[in-house]
Amino acid sequence: MEQNEHWVLLHGDVDTIKDFVFETSSLPQIRGGSQLLLECEDEVTKKVETLGGEKIYCSGGSFLFEIPADKVGAAKGDIENIYLERTLAATVTIAHESGSSLPDPQNTPQEGWAKRLWDAHQQVQQSGDFARRVAFLSAHVRKAKNQKRSSPFFEAFPFGKRCDACGKRVTLEEITRREPEEQEREELVALCAVCLQRHRTGVRSGKQHVRGRFNERFSHQYAPTANHPPDLDHLVRSARRSYVAFLYADGNDIGRLLQQVRSKEEFAALSRALEEGTQQALFKALQQACGQELQKNNGYWPFEIVNVGGDDVTLLIQAGYAWEVAVKFLEEFEARIKVLVMDTLGYWLEGWPEKITASCGIAIADVKHPVRYLEYLASDLLKRAKREAKASAERPQSAVTFLWLPNPVAAEKAEPLMSYYQRGDNRLTARPYTLERAEKLTHLVQEASQWPRVRALRHRWGEALDRGMLVSLNTVYYDIARRGDEDRVQLTRFLSEVGRSAEQQGYWTTPPGPLWQLFEKDNKKPGFRTALLDVLELAELRAMRPDVPEEEER
Ligand SMILES: [Zn+2]
Repeated sequence: MEQNEHWVLLHGDVDTIKDFVFETSSLPQIRGGSQLLLECEDEVTKKVETLGGEKIYCSGGSFLFEIPADKVGAAKGDIENIYLERTLAATVTIAHESGSSLPDPQNTPQEGWAKRLWDAHQQVQQSGDFARRVAFLSAHVRKAKNQKRSSPFFEAFPFGKRCDACGKRVTLEEITRREPEEQEREELVALCAVCLQRHRTGVRSGKQHVRGRFNERFSHQYAPTANHPPDLDHLVRSARRSYVAFLYADGNDIGRLLQQVRSKEEFAALSRALEEGTQQALFKALQQACGQELQKNNGYWPFEIVNVGGDDVTLLIQAGYAWEVAVKFLEEFEARIKVLVMDTLGYWLEGWPEKITASCGIAIADVKHPVRYLEYLASDLLKRAKREAKASAERPQSAVTFLWLPNPVAAEKAEPLMSYYQRGDNRLTARPYTLERAEKLTHLVQEASQWPRVRALRHRWGEALDRGMLVSLNTVYYDIARRGDEDRVQLTRFLSEVGRSAEQQGYWTTPPGPLWQLFEKDNKKPGFRTALLDVLELAELRAMRPDVPEEEER
């Protein structure tokens, strides 16, 4: 069957998918964009099946089908049309095997992306023709993408009225917007063809006014009594301060795992386990962290699941919940995927790591901040977390990091913003965190939220950290010395745990005080870093949650 000459693989993915989904900062638009792509996936799968083909996977804007060789031309054209007709703007790049199913090993790509990927693939390939066939097609898809120059173009006349949502294309229609439901007067908005399509899809709701596939699934599973938020303002409505977090998560090194599969069945089993496990892990994490708000009658969910595609998660959530949801998600992900793979396949593949891990990046800003910029930042932070996840080659770990923009800065990269935490050789943060350290940090954050007159102390310590290592040690120990015996014991223990949270993997030394840890910087030189400010920032964010008791102010 594997080598059946009449069947070929057809693989492809959506071009610049994030530009399509996050073109505007309006939640209905984002949700609509994401939903339209899901609907395309359903239709594409159905189409391939009517042509006699079979789905191996199709999610997150990417697909792999096996299809009779004589149907491949028709399928390709149909798939391209489905995307274009439904979204008016999203295009796909597709590659397929030609004729006999196996690419001739002698006939390897000679140049460009395809060659680089091919070479890289040759080095890591363990076994299995199937993985080789898929890698070969992926290389073709990437190469074709790099050569693509044109995308659907809507001509804009100089005096045409621009779309109120994207500001780019010419208005097609004015619609009355009555979102959210309780808004009294209707609002007129002029939208272009693409935004109109996304808007209509984004406000369309199923049962109980829940919109978007994954939100509906969540609602079905946990039956929250609170309302699904129609827009971002409702999403942050119950928060004490209107900060929103953009959270990206995905599995670590999934490409390498896939390259080690030997058959279509293994490939499909892993894809399915990732899809199912990722969704369940996210749902569980959300239910656990936000459970209290979800059961309020007149409240709104504090989050919106934008997408779960394969092992990818895109989530918008009130800032105060983001860290806890991320940590819980990573725990659940590690636990579930392996069980699901074992359930389907009955064995764990040789050469795969002990467990499959994931990483998470969280970007936090005011709810008015352009979502596209938060998306850029979150995706950059995710990369940083992944570096930490891979820091120890023999022991892959899950990892998470976050960045809070208390003031609006239009930045696409985290680097210049993270430099805010740099003070000479010292660093006021110990991010990113491996899951193990992140779990400890979560407890410390909860503890820090419970100190008496906590906000004043947080601010005082935060300022002291800013003034340097020795000044901060002085201030913190002075504050502890002034407390009663019981507080003193508790705070000293707290600080030594904060100290351990800043330890770098494989680089332990004796610090000058438990607050700071010696660590090796990227340039291999030693410096000191602390986790205290991370705890203080997360405690500050956590205090924005509606379910955390209001702090006494002084
Ligand atoms: Zn528009």
